[in-house]
Amino acid sequence: MLYYCIFTRMNLEDITTVKSLLSSPQNIVIVPHKNPDGDAIGSCLALLHFLQQKGHFATIVSPNDYPKFLKWMPGSKDILNYEKEKNNSQTLIREASLIFTLDFNDLSRTGTLENCLLEAKGDFIMIDHHQQPSDYAKVTYSDVSMSSTCEMVYNFFEFLGDSEEITKPIATALYAGIMTDTGSFKYRSTSSRTHRVVADLIDKGADNMEIHRKVFDTNSPSRLHLLGVALKNMVILEEFKTAYITLNQNELDDNDFKKGDTEGFVNYGLTLEGIVFAVIFIENREEGIIKMSFRSVGDFSVNEFARAHFKGGGHTNAAGGRSEQSMEATVKKFKSVLNQYKTQLSL
Ligand code: 5GP
Ligand code: MN
Repeated sequence: MLYYCIFTRMNLEDITTVKSLLSSPQNIVIVPHKNPDGDAIGSCLALLHFLQQKGHFATIVSPNDYPKFLKWMPGSKDILNYEKEKNNSQTLIREASLIFTLDFNDLSRTGTLENCLLEAKGDFIMIDHHQQPSDYAKVTYSDVSMSSTCEMVYNFFEFLGDSEEITKPIATALYAGIMTDTGSFKYRSTSSRTHRVVADLIDKGADNMEIHRKVFDTNSPSRLHLLGVALKNMVILEEFKTAYITLNQNELDDNDFKKGDTEGFVNYGLTLEGIVFAVIFIENREEGIIKMSFRSVGDFSVNEFARAHFKGGGHTNAAGGRSEQSMEATVKKFKSVLNQYKTQLSL
């Protein structure tokens, strides 16, 4: 029992509520955050298979498209893209008795899908590991110490007494999500429990080598050329132990940019000796924004930084944000606010 308490933040009352909500067949919609990553898609697909096995009518509605390197996952072809299938998505959300929101904790993270979710009549269940959760769900399973939402979904199945329901497609989706969100099991949130969960997923059919290859070894020549441009553009601010990269729309266009191509680029800054804060600024002319990714090592909280200055958030060591200004103005603002953190960054 003690072991059980170490990782759960889901209380018995919530477990009973969920069991009762799922005790008869329901219409269920599962929603990841906008620009879903491996953890968001993996957790949604694992839950989808689980709910379908249990006799529910379940569908995933994603706010927008997601990268090709995740499109091999079992069930991914059935994910509805709200941007492309608005009517169908809206009907499903309107008729849903239950809506699971996975890997985010504020409805604004779903972009234009937010309004539709605000009008939904069904009960919300949130499963998420980001900081500062909003209070919109009937059941909130939030644990910021968790490596990934996928690890939490694994726990969720265990809380329901349904670990034996983890089939190969579920194990595969959960493994892919944990692997991507932990940087292949190396980030600070990777615990011994994470490894035990992953070991069990392998026992339940996840082919670890195959999953790794399908996610990481699918580079295109244009993506590697774009990485070359990004690395050339890297600026190092030694006095702030910071490295940042910019990619403007022309550079993306010249290298045949596709969704997901810049995934992981920001991490290169942190591979430099002495660098503790890495940032990438990526122009999105269509949306009129600069999308930012922040990464850190150690105690510098990029979640706080992104929240305070760039309308974003996330985790202590990985967060995102955005700016409606030009690339030049955004970088200028970034450098100017960085001055406030000189002491923190030089510790
Ligand atoms: P990424 O830089 O890979 O887009 O995101 C890093 C982490 O921060 C992810 O866990 C992601 O969900 C979260 N994140 C990214 N953008 C935002 C944002 O605009 N707001 C909040 N609250 N979290 C974000
Ligand atoms: Mn995640």
